[in-house]
Amino acid sequence: MVKKKAKLKLKNNVRKPLVICSVVILIIIIILLFYFNRIGELKSLGYSEDSAKSIIFKFKYSYIMDIGENKTLNKAFESDDYIKENLDSYAKIDYQNQKHLISNINKLLDKGYSVNEINLIISRGDDKSVSDFVKRDKVKYIEEFLAVDFAKLENLDRYVLYQEKENDDAKTTVLYVNMDFDKEDYIDPLVIDDFDDYVLVNKHRQLSSKYIPDDLVKIKDEYVKTDGEIEIERNVAKAFYDMAEAAKDDGMELMVSSGYRSYKDQEEITNTYLELYGQKYVDNYVAKPGFSEHQTAMSLDVASKSVDTFVNSDEYVWMMDNAYKYGFILRYPKSKEDITGYKCEAWHYRYVGKKIAKYIKEHNITYDEYYVMFLDD
Ligand SMILES: [Zn+2]
Repeated sequence: MVKKKAKLKLKNNVRKPLVICSVVILIIIIILLFYFNRIGELKSLGYSEDSAKSIIFKFKYSYIMDIGENKTLNKAFESDDYIKENLDSYAKIDYQNQKHLISNINKLLDKGYSVNEINLIISRGDDKSVSDFVKRDKVKYIEEFLAVDFAKLENLDRYVLYQEKENDDAKTTVLYVNMDFDKEDYIDPLVIDDFDDYVLVNKHRQLSSKYIPDDLVKIKDEYVKTDGEIEIERNVAKAFYDMAEAAKDDGMELMVSSGYRSYKDQEEITNTYLELYGQKYVDNYVAKPGFSEHQTAMSLDVASKSVDTFVNSDEYVWMMDNAYKYGFILRYPKSKEDITGYKCEAWHYRYVGKKIAKYIKEHNITYDEYYVMFLDD
């Protein structure tokens, strides 16, 4: 009898932990299923694995499910810089692909910038300029200038100074400062190395000696006005032939008197003129090496076969009316001397493609302005 009781006690002692164990395992399985299900849901909304885990461990699953897809929140939950109190602000800030996005947002919020201002600041700058900007005391005038969609954060102080001096509206101020109108010609220019069909060259933007177009072709002899060969970028040659054909149908005979000129060519030209006419002449009339648009191989000097002074020719009038249809723009027009910084050159055309040429013609602007508004980043 004593033996039997002991056996029963032993059985109970084994059964109880077993039941508890099973229940615990079952609960763990349910929790895991729940967890992986939620991770899956968050991932289907575009959150990364790391971000999804962090959302669940921070108990923000329902918050995120209410908001849905949001790249800034994804980045915030991935980041070690996440601050709980800033969550609602992260949700309202447009994502930018910047390494220090979240830590910079935290610092801007700390300084008292509104969500609206932060959106402008981070969208008008890159990671470096925003990271520099957050070190500064709070700056006024944020919205006035940065609301212009081609404004640049790193130029903000220059906008303020330029406007104090010139009293232009915000958009004009941003446009002119981005074109470096607040700097002296040829002083501290931006130096460009890599070939690009859309490159802008002017008195503030210099091509380096390494800037060499890679697809040069010779212009067909029948279109060459001067002695010797003229080279130009392949697409520009093609567009010129199309244009010359159309001009021929209207009784015009278009030719080319200059195309690609290398950095070295321009150096030689400068030296020749220097010997002949002296420094003052060179400063006024000769493009210094790197500052000539001819080095891009995207521009050419157009000529008339029969009339030597181009402005006196019918071809000149025809080009003014029709060049844009073939992707060419008059680069230095008479009415825009203040903006281009060049005296009118009736013969100098730049190839920019049909779409841009049409826009420039219809809006009566220069390539400098077009570039700053739409192509500069
Ligand atoms: Zn020219």
